[in-house]
Amino acid sequence: MDSSGERLSTRRVPTLRIKEQTPPARLAANKTILVADTGEGFVETSQLLGGFGFSVLCPEDCSDPASCTVAFVNPDLDGGLDLCKSLSADCKVFLTTNNRDFEFKIEAVRMGAQGLLSRPLNAVEVFSSLEETRKDELPDARVLIVDDDDLTATVYAMALEECGLRVAVLNNPLHAETAIDEFRPDLLIMDIEMPEANGLDVARAIRLDPAHTSLPILFLSAVMKKGLQQKAREIGGDDFIRKPVDIGYLVKMVRMRAARSVELRQIMVRDGLTGLINHVSFKEKLATEINRSARTKAPFSVALIDLDHFKSINDTYGHQTGDKVLQTFATLLKSSLRNVDIIGRYGGEEFGVILLDANPDQAATTMDRIRREFERVNFTHANKRFHVTFSCGLAGSDDGGNCEMLLALADTALYEAKARGRNRITRFDSSLKRRSGQEQAGISC
Ligand code: GH3
Ligand code: MG
Ligand code: MG
Ligand code: MG
Repeated sequence: MDSSGERLSTRRVPTLRIKEQTPPARLAANKTILVADTGEGFVETSQLLGGFGFSVLCPEDCSDPASCTVAFVNPDLDGGLDLCKSLSADCKVFLTTNNRDFEFKIEAVRMGAQGLLSRPLNAVEVFSSLEETRKDELPDARVLIVDDDDLTATVYAMALEECGLRVAVLNNPLHAETAIDEFRPDLLIMDIEMPEANGLDVARAIRLDPAHTSLPILFLSAVMKKGLQQKAREIGGDDFIRKPVDIGYLVKMVRMRAARSVELRQIMVRDGLTGLINHVSFKEKLATEINRSARTKAPFSVALIDLDHFKSINDTYGHQTGDKVLQTFATLLKSSLRNVDIIGRYGGEEFGVILLDANPDQAATTMDRIRREFERVNFTHANKRFHVTFSCGLAGSDDGGNCEMLLALADTALYEAKARGRNRITRFDSSLKRRSGQEQAGISC
């Protein structure tokens, strides 16, 4: 076994890998939404959601509400709130209403509503609500346990994995820094008494790197020496738990702290308008995937997307409407791609996608499906209806090269898609002339 195999418990790492490779769909495999509304409201909602690949059912046609992603109920219907209450036992319910009275809100939550959506429904709000429902299902926090006692660590790991956290176990604290770089945890659980090094010293050494000063650390110790807890706090340990640990308590503490850490991380790496990862983070992820693919030989494709004639959208309908288009496009990407795929806002009206386990042919099929969905989305501004399209350039991991090279190839293909008339997906191939550095829009690594 090589040294990296020894560093992170081999039992844990393959578990993680399997989870990452067979993910659930981004929103839900079943894209059915139950809609209780007036005839006209039902038709409008069906049109909006249909454009994004959802199917819509009315309560009479739905025999199993639990199989729906979510239910949208108009509370002004006769018995609307009662319906909300009965549905809320089986699925998440959002009320479609412009009523924002506080008393009404109290009544709404009492009847089981999880959120309010303004009428008429708009794509941005609808998709953020669907994203919200996803959050509870797929916590994406990573926890690294550093403990010399493998059996204890395994018990903790199993309990944490059970509630959806991704866990890696490290038995030798001397490899902690490398494990953090590899696994990028959102929280560290650190034993104190370990033969190779004392957990408090390990934590202090980790904190010497400015990149790790905000990583939450939960210390575990069998001995309760006077002042130890104080010392742990001084190092910036968030908490101190005595061994043997009450597993229920540990899970609760870890979940809370990991969630906060994930939130903080997201603020730093996410684009404020769309919630997608930003340019720098997208390129970091691409570099990681290039390394992974070199190791595992699993193919991936990278897509660069640029909205067509976006300047004229801003000029005609205003910058705010332009922002809404960008948000809607981001939510469409999120709802149409798998959970493993990586989506970033690459620049103004440019987006990047890394499609894992997909060669360029497969990626082209996926991106073309999204292209067709997007061109059908109805945008409105001051009662005027308009449509937006995008162009996309694709390159595959087999096209070779580092991050900068792959992005340049995808950008060359994107440029070709624009030149051929826009609203299309173009794959890079060697017959396309590479664009010079100056011509490339925002490509650098
Ligand atoms: P092409 O089809 O060749 O890509 O044409 P285009 O008009 O989309 O390209 P161009 O680069 O000329 O214009 C991009 C526009 O995107 C200009 C810029 O104001 C707009 N834009 C960039 N970021 C944002 C943003 O965050 N919000 C809004 N509303 N507009 C943005
Ligand atoms: Mg120990
Ligand atoms: Mg552009
Ligand atoms: Mg553009």
